[in-house]
Amino acid sequence: HSSHVMKDNCPRYVRVNTLKTSLSNVQYQLDNNGWSLQEYDPTQVTYSDFLKFIQELGESTYLRDYHVDELLIFPPKTPFWDNFLYTNNDIILQDKASCLPVLVSGIKPGSNVIDACAAPGNKTSYIAAAINNTGHVVAIEKDLERYQTLQRLVVERRATCVTTLNQDFTRLPLDKYSQVEFIFVDPSCSSSGVNLHNDEVPEERIRSLACFQAHLLRHALSFPSVQEVIYSTCSVYVQENEEVVQNALKEFQDQFELEDLSEKLSGWKHFGNESFVFGRRCLRTRTDVDKCHGFFVAKFVRISKICNRLT
Ligand code: SAM
Repeated sequence: HSSHVMKDNCPRYVRVNTLKTSLSNVQYQLDNNGWSLQEYDPTQVTYSDFLKFIQELGESTYLRDYHVDELLIFPPKTPFWDNFLYTNNDIILQDKASCLPVLVSGIKPGSNVIDACAAPGNKTSYIAAAINNTGHVVAIEKDLERYQTLQRLVVERRATCVTTLNQDFTRLPLDKYSQVEFIFVDPSCSSSGVNLHNDEVPEERIRSLACFQAHLLRHALSFPSVQEVIYSTCSVYVQENEEVVQNALKEFQDQFELEDLSEKLSGWKHFGNESFVFGRRCLRTRTDVDKCHGFFVAKFVRISKICNRLT
């Protein structure tokens, strides 16, 4: 049961909501509440050294993340539920893995974005923060109850560039969103990278999830102006990850290729399954090593039409 223990021991990640406050403000508040920042120089420290810092994080100390600027790291199970920074939406409890799709994307202020599977909206609000509430984000959620949570959090976190829609993404008309440039697809999955107990997910359940995930991804790749589609899951199974990506690549091979994410995060060690030719271009996280949820990210980018220019 070693993996159970490791997942339980994941540190507590806290993302500073830069739409409401700043990193230095939050640090100031934390310092006044008995916390102390363990500083390090990221140019002098390797990712492996940094992982040791997490491992050895002492009581009442916290770190800044090595890759995600606005992310802070606290000892496992640090309670934040009644902390005013949390109740005030100045901080968001969001695992590092869940920040990676946004981090590797090319969104910038002014971008036109769809978040296809948005509730509860942790990625949505990070996207809004990354583009500094300029541009536009359409956040879509099919389930009504989860949609209501999304709607509430978007307002509370001051993600003012976000429009929410209670709709099935696969029924979103392509022509109505002909300007969208970036689509995040973070569909329901087996959650096998997150669950504390390693219950076997039945083969049939994985197969049906993979089919639904492929359907969502295919729809995302069909928007006429989309330049990037970022696909992510918190599953560890190739069926929900590399296989879904492989099928989409096959179908859209003249239009999209996978960006190589292997150099994007300094010192990163875990990539997609290498029995797929594109495996190394995808990111994976490993709970036991990377100290965050098990996760998968692939980034489709539209192939620029060089052939057209030559003819
Ligand atoms: N991206 C979210 C975040 O970071 O907070 C987590 C998304 S969760 C893994 C997947 C969500 O997709 C669920 O809330 C589910 O109800 C929703 N969903 C599933 N199928 C959908 C569809 N066809 N259209 C829109 N949303 C869908």
